[in-house]
Amino acid sequence: MNTSSQTFLAIGAHCGDMEVTCAAALAKHKKHGAQIVFLHLTLGEGGNPAMSPKEYGKLKHREALAAAKVIGAEALFAPYKDGELPNDEAARRYVADIIRQVKPTHVITHWKNSIHKDHANTYSIVMDAILLASLEGVVTKHPRHRGIKAIYFTENWEDPEGFKPYLYVDVSEELELWKECVTQYQFIKGGISAFPYLEYYEALARVRGAEAGTKYAEAFDVDPFEKKRVVDLLP
Ligand SMILES: [Zn+2]
Repeated sequence: MNTSSQTFLAIGAHCGDMEVTCAAALAKHKKHGAQIVFLHLTLGEGGNPAMSPKEYGKLKHREALAAAKVIGAEALFAPYKDGELPNDEAARRYVADIIRQVKPTHVITHWKNSIHKDHANTYSIVMDAILLASLEGVVTKHPRHRGIKAIYFTENWEDPEGFKPYLYVDVSEELELWKECVTQYQFIKGGISAFPYLEYYEALARVRGAEAGTKYAEAFDVDPFEKKRVVDLLP
């Protein structure tokens, strides 16, 4: 399938959130011609006990650019601070204007429930920003964008409550590329956080692959309202 008319905008709270949960699926779409853009709302610069947030932020910025490059994606950075992502109107308008510039056909972001407030705030900001971006009466620097066909939510260990895998993407061919992408980040390779990111997400891809009847898969959820099939006769 040629997907050259598709643009995926993956919006994560911290650098690394979107790559670790869905870069394999995004890499697959890229192979089929889609454009891939990451928007990192914060650098996630607060999580390294051995470095100041300023130093670690610079490193995360470089790592995010390197990770994007591995799968042929573009990376954009919002000006917010780790742990202080404001759940306010200005952030919604900021993201709405990015949506108007990038003109995505698909938006991917965090599931609504999370133990991390930046993640839950990202969900709220993004969902409202999609609406604001579509409204002519909402004035930002760019004209309105109404071409978003689908919104998907990633499977993240910090966002588990109520998340149900719904769409499974076979990423057996992309797992090595995913590994190369995510290990651009030191915190995923290991040694910064006690959480075994690489092992967890590789094992999760194997679990979802087993459920999907493939080797590896990445799973996504959709808004409960979208879980509706209309058929002429029962399949
Ligand atoms: Zn995060």
